[in-house]
Amino acid sequence: MKLKGSFFLGKSASAKGVNNMKNLKLVKFNDSGKKSTFFKVGNCEIGRDFIIVGGPCSVESEEQTLLTADAVKKGGGNMLRGGAFKPRTSPYDFQGLGLKGLKILEKAKQKTGLPIVTEVIDPRDVSWVCEYADILQIGARNMQNFSLLKEVGKSNKPVLLKRGMYSTLREWLNCAEYILAEGNPNVILCERGIRTFETYTRNTLDLSIVPAIKELTHLPVVVDPSHGTGKLSLIEPMSLAAVAAGADGLILEVHINPKEALSDADQQLTPEQFASLTEKVFKLKKFMDETIYSETEPEE
Ligand code: PEP
Ligand code: MN
Repeated sequence: MKLKGSFFLGKSASAKGVNNMKNLKLVKFNDSGKKSTFFKVGNCEIGRDFIIVGGPCSVESEEQTLLTADAVKKGGGNMLRGGAFKPRTSPYDFQGLGLKGLKILEKAKQKTGLPIVTEVIDPRDVSWVCEYADILQIGARNMQNFSLLKEVGKSNKPVLLKRGMYSTLREWLNCAEYILAEGNPNVILCERGIRTFETYTRNTLDLSIVPAIKELTHLPVVVDPSHGTGKLSLIEPMSLAAVAAGADGLILEVHINPKEALSDADQQLTPEQFASLTEKVFKLKKFMDETIYSETEPEE
């Protein structure tokens, strides 16, 4: 979605004013006004259609994944997420099912038609993870893994690049630049919260970055309120706030039985919570498109 309205400075004015955008040749709006990036994944046009990616933190079993995938589809989601490779804080925590997990995701895709968003954590895995993924996720902990960025930049799959938990906007955009510089133009930025002195929430979801990205770059941006808050009760309000801030989509953790989840049990929505959230999100999005932005200038 392109943000419009009087409270925006306009992309060229703001991009020129931010001198630290130097070297971000490919991600920034250039002076002649590069058009926003749009690309197709399944039936969705990322950057134009609002996307909702739902699914478990980790692929744990075939049953859990297939049931969750059905719930995501019924609940209005248009893509399925699920980690087969899990970058965990402790080496003793569940590390993911690897190839077995990817095969389960493949089955879920065959059953529901939902495209797959899944994380790749090692440059050596990129080529074969591409056989299963429709979008490659680069996790927060790997945002500045430059060899991984170069490798996904050589692939022909879109990349969902999560913001590192200690990263500035400039550092994050430089990572997107790495991918674009290798020839892959299809990058989605994902705000998933940063670490601040606040400890009540798991991370501090920096929604101000969404309109900032829209001012400075042509890339689509989605928001992950699951990792961004880590708290079930905050996910719906922050999802709505992300829509209001101009995000192009949401990525949400959903589990058929959150209490039993092998990772991120505290922040996974039940299928019912997911469906109720998406209904409100779509209503707000429609209201914004039809009421708030109905009289603004057409997209370039
Ligand atoms: C995830 O999406 O499950 C994940 C590990 O996210 P992040 O990299 O944002 O922590
Ligand atoms: Mn998770």
